Amino acid sequence: MSEKEKLYTPTKGYTTFTSNPNNPDYQPLHPQPPPQPQPRPLHHFQPPVADPTNLPKRPATLRCPYCQVSVITNVKYRRGLATYALAAFTCVVCLPFFWVPLVVKSTRDVIHTCPRCGQYIGRHDACS
Ligand SMILES: [Zn+2]
Repeated sequence: MSEKEKLYTPTKGYTTFTSNPNNPDYQPLHPQPPPQPQPRPLHHFQPPVADPTNLPKRPATLRCPYCQVSVITNVKYRRGLATYALAAFTCVVCLPFFWVPLVVKSTRDVIHTCPRCGQYIGRHDACS
């Protein structure tokens, strides 16, 4: 044993305290309880909550904000501002076909409702 080791070797019965958790002799003053097993996360598909301003033209799978159930929305087509604006434009450009925008679904707004609770969820504007 070298002279240096003799100097730093603790005597028998002497306990060293260290605050460095990486030190193998580290003993916390207040031992933490053993970690409890975390509940395993469920891997069910959770559709997003409906964003009433950004819904597609077709029925969408989402979570109803009212009944909190995953649903495929019911859609209804309603004539809106875009429908009548397009009909007016067609009237000016080609009078005999002014009625076409009024009957074509793609020019109508799409209203999404919940099939379970019947609440209005959102809409897709034809002009967006
Ligand atoms: Zn609902």
